[in-house]
Amino acid sequence: MEASLTARDRVGIQDFVLLDAYTSESAFLDNLRKRFHENFIYTYIGTLLVSVNPYKDLDIYSKKQMDTYMGVNFFELPPHIYALADNVFRTMLSEFNNHFILISGESGAGKTEASKKILQFYAVSCPSTTLLNNVRDRLLLSNPVLEAFGNAKTLKNDNSSRFGKYMDIQFDHQGGAVGGHIINYLLEKSRVVHQNHGERNFHIFYQLVEGGDEELLRWLGLERNCQHYRYLVQGDCAKVSSINDKSDWKTVRKALSVTEFSESDMEHLFGIIASVLHLGNIKFEADARGYAALNNNQEMLWVTKLLGIPAQVLEQGLTHRKIEARTEEVLSPFSVDHAVYARDALAKAIYGRTFNWLVNKINESLANKDSSRKMVIGLLDIYGFEVFNVNSFEQFCINYCNEKLQQLFIELTLKSEQEEYEMEGIEWEPVPYFNNKIICELVEEKHRGIISLLDEECLRPGEATDVTFLEKMEEKISGHPHFLTHKLADQKTRKTLDRGDFRLLHYAGEVTYCVLGFLDKNNDLLYRNGKEVMRQSKNAIVKHCFPSTEPDSKRRPETVVTQFKSSLVGLTEILMSKEPWYIRCIKPNEAKQPGCFDDVLVRHQVKYLGLMEHLRVRRAGFAYRRKYEIFLQRYKPLSPDTWPNWKGTAAEGVRCLIKHLGYKSDEYKMGRTKIFIRHPRTLFATEDAFQVCKHKLGETFCKSICEATATTKIENCWRGLMARKEREKRTWAVKVIKRFIKGFITRNQPACIDNSEYLAYVRQSYLTRLKENLPKTILEKDSWLTPPPIMQEVVFFFYILYIGYVYYSQYYHPICLHVSIFQLLLKAQTSALFKGKKENYPFSVCRPFLDTRISKSFLVTESYSVPVVKYDRNGFRPRLRQLIFTQEAAYLLEEAKIKQRIDYSSLKGVSVSNLSDNFLILHVTCDDIKQKGDLVLQSSICVRFDIQPGREGFVDFKSGQESMVYRAKNGHLMVSCKCGINSHAYYNITLLCGCCQ
Ligand code: ADP
Repeated sequence: MEASLTARDRVGIQDFVLLDAYTSESAFLDNLRKRFHENFIYTYIGTLLVSVNPYKDLDIYSKKQMDTYMGVNFFELPPHIYALADNVFRTMLSEFNNHFILISGESGAGKTEASKKILQFYAVSCPSTTLLNNVRDRLLLSNPVLEAFGNAKTLKNDNSSRFGKYMDIQFDHQGGAVGGHIINYLLEKSRVVHQNHGERNFHIFYQLVEGGDEELLRWLGLERNCQHYRYLVQGDCAKVSSINDKSDWKTVRKALSVTEFSESDMEHLFGIIASVLHLGNIKFEADARGYAALNNNQEMLWVTKLLGIPAQVLEQGLTHRKIEARTEEVLSPFSVDHAVYARDALAKAIYGRTFNWLVNKINESLANKDSSRKMVIGLLDIYGFEVFNVNSFEQFCINYCNEKLQQLFIELTLKSEQEEYEMEGIEWEPVPYFNNKIICELVEEKHRGIISLLDEECLRPGEATDVTFLEKMEEKISGHPHFLTHKLADQKTRKTLDRGDFRLLHYAGEVTYCVLGFLDKNNDLLYRNGKEVMRQSKNAIVKHCFPSTEPDSKRRPETVVTQFKSSLVGLTEILMSKEPWYIRCIKPNEAKQPGCFDDVLVRHQVKYLGLMEHLRVRRAGFAYRRKYEIFLQRYKPLSPDTWPNWKGTAAEGVRCLIKHLGYKSDEYKMGRTKIFIRHPRTLFATEDAFQVCKHKLGETFCKSICEATATTKIENCWRGLMARKEREKRTWAVKVIKRFIKGFITRNQPACIDNSEYLAYVRQSYLTRLKENLPKTILEKDSWLTPPPIMQEVVFFFYILYIGYVYYSQYYHPICLHVSIFQLLLKAQTSALFKGKKENYPFSVCRPFLDTRISKSFLVTESYSVPVVKYDRNGFRPRLRQLIFTQEAAYLLEEAKIKQRIDYSSLKGVSVSNLSDNFLILHVTCDDIKQKGDLVLQSSICVRFDIQPGREGFVDFKSGQESMVYRAKNGHLMVSCKCGINSHAYYNITLLCGCCQ
């Protein structure tokens, strides 16, 4: 309604409740017309939806439109069938109760389309899973099947439903469509054997003849020509431009297979359709005695073949009637007329019962076997009030049905209005409305009502006719204010009635019925042996439709109108237990023309659909009611007390607001949760004031919005930056965690790229913890932290050292302590020098070092000597030499002869390779001309390598299969070391001679 308030001037009023002249039919019509011409086909009366058939495709049913209406407050958007469907669905989910949508209107007004639109909306909006989609597809596909068998072209509508349909859609508690059930009402069976000019039989006959493939037609004995079949040509319009029977046939075939019809079901079903066509072509002629005899055996043979009935039995069933005479049964031959009647009765019975079977079969495929509680939305697509030039038994039934629905509607609407008033604590003011109970009783009252009188006439022995039925009504119900016949009418009215007519004053207006055919149609007589014949059928569907358990004619079956009355009672019970919603469809013109609004025709429907009545009830008390919160939210800018923020309760806010606006006391009522406004004009004045105020507020807002925009942009940039940083951090963290996990998994493998970091971490964290938890005394030695496996050896050494340290420091001589400390220092020094640089360093860590290799004699003689191997400069032949260190210099000796002296002052540095080759290179300054250059030594096998003065020399180190020292082709000394950790390492050390600088 909020949306309608804003848009009311442009497109009329979107809700008739807001029509000031709500009692004026002309004002109602004006609004409907105005909107229709602007393609606004939907208008509300409260929550009732009025729909005018546009007779053209409007772009208002797209997926986008569905999305727009999903989950939106009913009155926030322009009226639409999706808004109603969505509101029903959401109310069902929130209140856990059942609902129904009653779609009514004349033939061609758009009922079938409306129910399809609702189904399509639910198909899109409901939650979906493979299982649910399956149910959804079946629900959707049941439509073309039912339309093929139950719809036909009439003068008013090319696809007119010739039966009433109530469809339950079952939902689970999450709103998924989980099942369905269909109830059908009063199929117009007479159409099978007779069609008015310009009308057709049910679509399926034409679809089969036009679309069935050659083989199928051959099997069914059919020709591809509708003109060939008497039951298809009486209306003289087998072909209709708006209908494509061929493609519709394909749709129906596909739908049948999806809705679980087996091949054999379809075979039997098409067999029945074809046999009805063959039946229609069976002709009779009078024999010599004037009795009916078959004159075309061919068609009958096809029927016997397709239905699986012996030819003789069928022939006898069509030409004879069985009569019970005391103890025996006698066959009485038919006249030709009787035989035609019996044939048509059989065709109608077969088709009618097959239609019921079809609906049951669809129900089986839609049935939900799970017993958990479901919620239901029912769709009732039922014929609206019908008034033709000549109205017969069918119109009588249909209009009676509409009287019942109107009664239900008034009851439910008044009830819900009254309940709302009570709930809100507002006094209920009685609403003047026309109670159609009096008409319902006129039709259905036991013993006195029209239905009882009709049944009486049908069942009584003797010569009952349509005229005797009329006379009986005149006798029994004369003087009833809603009943009239030619005889009972006054002079003036009599002129408008024929002798065989009776007139009922329905709630929607007068309808004159012609009594002719009432008895026959009500009896729907299928002679007893007709049924017996069908019971012998081998066709599974026919067998099922004519069960042997069915009571035979000794007990009269229920008449058509009584069956219809019972089914309406059932329907009323179903509907009474649910929340009602209404869609009233209106046909704007008879010519099915877009853009054409026939005032007389529409006025007629407005009346017959009871729209004015509905509006009067809806407007009985108050035109508008809204929750306090919503009302205050919209209109709070209109009072300085409530704008911009109201601190109290919403009801107090509304009270304050309407005081400021000057509402008079009789214009409104305050309920418990809602405000009720009596007249639309009060609301419109408020709305107009709001529109003016909105513009002013808009300008003020504009400025602050600009500022807010800039702020928002900066904020967005900052948030973006922070988010990117956070992402980088997370990516880094993921990598670290991955490495950690990988390291953990490979922690027991030899050191490698995957676990090196992890092991380092393990070592570090262990040592840190160890440092903080060292035992303080020797007594606590068992509390030593258990080391990780990779550190066991070294830690054991630490342990010994440390415990020794504690022990000695507590109990022994400080010299011993000094020794331990000295070892630690040595280890630390070695680590600094070689860790990560020398191949065999790790193996040395766990071994205690010797304090010194220098013998005591060195300490005495102050010299140290070690044997070495020297390779000749030319050819690198190895020669044994002695290396002696004294306090001042190192000497290389051959036996007792000094070959080279290196003063420590000229020792520039010492190099080793990173392999386990025991090589040692002493770099010597080259200032002294006497010096021969750098010295390459090997400790246990010490190598000396001389370089010629003025030349550069190179030693290449590499790991290889064997330990070797040799002159390589490039003139370098190649030192190959066996089994290195870095097996492919290759190092080069440049040696300088004494005078090359
Ligand atoms: P009913 O079921 O009331 O007899 P239908 O629903 O079959 O009427 O509508 C008759 C025809 O009117 C449809 O075949 C279609 O051409 C047209 N029609 C109905 N409703 C709409 C709509 N909402 N938009 C466009 N055309 C429609």
